[in-house]
Amino acid sequence: MSHTNTNPVPLAPRRYDLHTHSLRSDGTLTPAELVARAHAVGIDVLALTDHDVTDGIAEARTAAAPLGMTLIAGVEISVTWRNQTLHILGLNVDIAHSALQQGLSRLREFRQWRAVEIGRRLQKKRIEGAYEGAARLARGTIVSRTHFARFLVEQGYVRGMQQAFRQFLLRGKPGHVPGQWAGLDEAVGWIRSAGGRAVVAHPARYKLSAGKLRQMLGEFRDCGGEALEVVSGSHSPEANRQYAGIAAEQGFFASAGSDYHGPEKTWMDLGRLPALPAGCTPVWHDWT
Ligand code: AMP
Ligand code: MN
Ligand code: MN
Ligand code: MN
Repeated sequence: MSHTNTNPVPLAPRRYDLHTHSLRSDGTLTPAELVARAHAVGIDVLALTDHDVTDGIAEARTAAAPLGMTLIAGVEISVTWRNQTLHILGLNVDIAHSALQQGLSRLREFRQWRAVEIGRRLQKKRIEGAYEGAARLARGTIVSRTHFARFLVEQGYVRGMQQAFRQFLLRGKPGHVPGQWAGLDEAVGWIRSAGGRAVVAHPARYKLSAGKLRQMLGEFRDCGGEALEVVSGSHSPEANRQYAGIAAEQGFFASAGSDYHGPEKTWMDLGRLPALPAGCTPVWHDWT
């Protein structure tokens, strides 16, 4: 019998995690350590999406190549929309693109000013040296509220990260500094001009009313946004299902990301993301 089997061997589905942080922003692992850990837990396609910075991408790429992993160049951009902070992920961005980098560098300038201001405000609450402490923990990269929270825990002002945020850093608390991040249209514009795809990160975390959510998603679509992070390490299973429905209904692609920040596990460990619910079109459906 000269039968040739031309059926392709079925491939195991690739495992995606499209939202992670390294110590180039507020994660605790180096980009290479993050990639190694992702590989160890069976992730095939990993996006590094540090806050407002792409400095870790080169190191992550170099670490991913010999492991046969696909490293997606990403960024998580801080946005102010109607006095509320939103996070917009850019996936598959050209990190050499100048409009993107100029935009991110403006956000980092605001972030640096804000960090000093957070320190001043905490000082008024008799917390000394918070800016210096947060900057020390940030080890020369962007200073995030996460670093202030770690400082407050380290110095014994609070018992844990959640308490640090609730007592000092969330909106309306002494260390919260309102201000202007990127406009929604700006962030999506930078991502698109850099060839990337814009994704609303962890949509359930914003607690927008149904009307506000509709407006936000409408504006997001109008300026070129294409996807929602339906499955997030910081979502409940219920929220994953809810946003799967919204994405399918409104024609957005669906993304999935743990929002991993390191082994301390703020939200979820690496490699534990559930699959996208049925009916979603994955944001990676046309990636080669
Ligand atoms: P920033 O961009 O400096 O305002 O900091 C925002 C970061 O703080 C987020 O990316 C999270 O990593 C972290 N964060 C925000 N809220 C909380 C919370 N309730 N518990 C722990 N981490 C949080
Ligand atoms: Mn973070
Ligand atoms: Mn976020
Ligand atoms: Mn994140």
